Amino acid sequence: MAAKPLQACDYKTGRTLGQGSFATVKEAVKLSTGEKYALKVINKKHMKGREHLVRNEVGILQKVSKGHRHIVTLHEYFETPNSLYLVMDLCTGGELFEWIMEKGTFYEEDAAEIIRTVVDCVAYLHEQNVVHRDIKPENLLFRSRNSLSELMIADFGLSKTLDPENSDLLLKSTVGTPGYMAPEILRKQGHGKPVDMWAIGVMTYFLLCGYFPFAVGAGAGSDFNAGVDRVLRADFAFEPKEYWLDISNESKDFISRLIRLDPEERMSAADALKHPWMGFAPIVGDGGA
Ligand code: ADP
Ligand code: MG
Repeated sequence: MAAKPLQACDYKTGRTLGQGSFATVKEAVKLSTGEKYALKVINKKHMKGREHLVRNEVGILQKVSKGHRHIVTLHEYFETPNSLYLVMDLCTGGELFEWIMEKGTFYEEDAAEIIRTVVDCVAYLHEQNVVHRDIKPENLLFRSRNSLSELMIADFGLSKTLDPENSDLLLKSTVGTPGYMAPEILRKQGHGKPVDMWAIGVMTYFLLCGYFPFAVGAGAGSDFNAGVDRVLRADFAFEPKEYWLDISNESKDFISRLIRLDPEERMSAADALKHPWMGFAPIVGDGGA
């Protein structure tokens, strides 16, 4: 981290790159070097009652961001009374979410490559006893659009470090994004690493067919409640059938071993890496360096 205290005036901000639930991310140039970064500006007022999560994000990124080449790097951070600024690697390729929407459908090999990168990254995080808790296509960014292997995991805003002495101890707060939240989070029974694997299962399903296994939308109407109800029973199917005809049985098996009600029965990240479907993707010698 920086030796001298940095300030917002050391950077010139440009266009807005993205807007999340708690933060705005802008392109920024460091005036002393001319280097471009992504500047995540977290408004502390929006974080009332969750201030601990802000410090958490910085602490976790400091711990993990240099440990895996697919985790977005935090270069430095600074604070004003109202905001916290995180200076990160600039990902110019946009969100995986936008990429899916633009492409509509794409090859299963591409989906397998994307998911293998995410699983490899999550395996590293879990080894470090970090649970991400917000794995979804909006938080996966392309460093550039040159290749799928440039995918980066971002947004550690909801992440949590487990007690290394007691990593089975469960987390209690209800966090995440509806639609990706595992049933044990909704049930408030306590949760841990398997919630990331559930979210990866949901994301894999979405990548392959373009819609969600549990239609849990943003609203709070009856559809939302019905969706939550299905999550609580892990009640999903590869339907309508015509969308799944050309999709491999290996991928369906992969998803079925992640979207499981009992967290203990879900594949761990290390298990998932060994699943036959991971062999669908071309091998591009990277990994958890
Ligand atoms: P929040 O915690 O509010 O969801 P995120 O960290 O997810 O904030 O950032 C919000 C959005 O900003 C992301 O979905 C993405 O579009 C964009 N973004 C975040 N980090 C970067 C980055 N390093 N490079 C480019 N865009 C980014
Ligand atoms: Mg986000």
